[in-house]
Amino acid sequence: MVRTRSPRRRQLPVLAATAALVAGVGVAPGALAQAATAAPPPAKSPLAIGNGGAVASVDADASAAGLEVLRKGGNAVDAAVATAAALGVTEPYSGGIGGGGYFVYYNAKSHKVLTIDGRERAPLTAGRDLFLDHGKPLAFDDAVTSGLSVGVPGTPATWDTALRSWGSRPLADVLKPAERLARKGFTVDETFRKQTADNAKRFKDFPATARLFLPGGKPPAVGSTLKNPDLARTYQLLGRKGIGAVYGGEIGRDLVRTVRKPPVDPRSGRNARPGGLTERDLRAYTVQRPAPTHTTYRGRDVYGMAPSSSGGTAIAEALNILQKRGNLGKVDQVTYLQRYLEASRIAFADRNRWIGDPAQEKVPTTALTSQRFAASRACLVDDHQALTSPLAPGDPYHPAPCARQGRPAPTPYEGQQTTHMTVADKWGNVVAYTFTIEQTGGSGITVPGRGFLLNNELTDFSFVPVTPGVHDPNLPGPGKRPRSSISPTIVLRHGKFDFAIGSPGGATIITTVLQTFLNHVDRGMPLVDAIAAPRASQRNAAATELEPALWNSRLRGQLQDRGQVFKQNPEIGAATGVQRLPDGRWLAAAEKVRRGGGSAMVVSPARR
Ligand code: GLU
Repeated sequence: MVRTRSPRRRQLPVLAATAALVAGVGVAPGALAQAATAAPPPAKSPLAIGNGGAVASVDADASAAGLEVLRKGGNAVDAAVATAAALGVTEPYSGGIGGGGYFVYYNAKSHKVLTIDGRERAPLTAGRDLFLDHGKPLAFDDAVTSGLSVGVPGTPATWDTALRSWGSRPLADVLKPAERLARKGFTVDETFRKQTADNAKRFKDFPATARLFLPGGKPPAVGSTLKNPDLARTYQLLGRKGIGAVYGGEIGRDLVRTVRKPPVDPRSGRNARPGGLTERDLRAYTVQRPAPTHTTYRGRDVYGMAPSSSGGTAIAEALNILQKRGNLGKVDQVTYLQRYLEASRIAFADRNRWIGDPAQEKVPTTALTSQRFAASRACLVDDHQALTSPLAPGDPYHPAPCARQGRPAPTPYEGQQTTHMTVADKWGNVVAYTFTIEQTGGSGITVPGRGFLLNNELTDFSFVPVTPGVHDPNLPGPGKRPRSSISPTIVLRHGKFDFAIGSPGGATIITTVLQTFLNHVDRGMPLVDAIAAPRASQRNAAATELEPALWNSRLRGQLQDRGQVFKQNPEIGAATGVQRLPDGRWLAAAEKVRRGGGSAMVVSPARR
């Protein structure tokens, strides 16, 4: 529901809404009752340095929500949940309680890294034919905008588990800033307007989604205020009753009804396929708490997210390969990029073949991240001649040096959205948390009266085996979690926290985190510049994707001379990170430009 900020323009949406109501277009009657505008969002900065804790996210209101909790004495876990809940308001197309994610936590007392896998799960009735119709795979877009793609949300359970395990505040407390934001509204920026416009065609077919995000039948104007009183009430209910309201209560019932009979506008002609989710699926949901992946790299310990995400194994494998090829800090820029692209290509060949839900598949996590396996793969990297993709996977169970046999498994398409936050507190605890509803706007289906979109995470499954005749560990199954690329990463140095990073971007998450890590650790770039640097993404595809700044640079030709093939990608990822500086201060870093720039904040900024 939208109001513009300037008093002169404030009447316009009301008139538009009235006209729309008269015309029968779906606009909530409640929208007419609200006139107050949002407080202007806090100023956005990609860099903050200071004491008392830090928050970095893509959005200033969300970072401010986390900071508010830190200021009031909450710890990093409390603040991370507050930030995530606020992102559910201001970035509702990227994450929210209708989706899932992966939470990585550094405990400053024990110096241990712990994780929560809050990935969405398929219904217990799902089979490997989930996305087949008469034996043929469904069109991807039809699968996305349907009840079929909706997995059991893991986000409420992630927040609850994190708070109970490591937090210091009850859920009701940490949801407060987000609840207020949803009730009072936030100011629409260009990124939000564009994401809405890109989705308008399908959003308008679902009256509950249109009411929320297409006020007056159109994407909200930049500078207008978007409110979500339904979500404010949902957060309030979650605070009062706990997450049982989702996994066995009234929100869950509404969710199941929505998935089983997607509420489309009958005049739209859209056939949104129903999903098979039941209340039993909700009751059966539990998060997993796998040990993080681990490797060492140039005196650092690198911890990542274990399967069901492929992020931790792929990044560890690529780092292991790179380390075997010598010091990346000592080579020229072309050789640096060549090795980075080749290591990533190899890691993706292996990820595509071996990673699925470890609850249902035999997944060689330890072998994939082992030095022995990396040694067998590193000999494929040639500084002067790129490999050809799709490259065949290696066999981590029986590593054979430079093996090229086996049949390649290309990287299937994954959406490029989601949102990542990084939070630290005054005690030194750190959270790196990436959460998602998969595509921008998820399934496009809002649970009526509850104010949140449902995920389409199940489209991260392979619809059919990627290589015919070769076992694909990422086919759908009952209660199974689709493979993810989410890569919240925590790095220790001499046993103490050094920095943490993560990014959205589907399968490009892995390359964004890897490249940012290398830019910082090997190339000596300050974290904020390591994040801002132009990106390249090689995911075992014929062409490597390049952002425009690299596409337009001399490096492209120099890399082409070494056998690389390129295509353009206008924007890859939207990373954030925090770092502990040697003097003990916190540095929070976010994007300077991508996604309209991110928001880094610290509790007590240092004087410049
Ligand atoms: N579904 C993706 C994954 O889990 C994340 C979505 C995205 O980043 O766009 O890997």
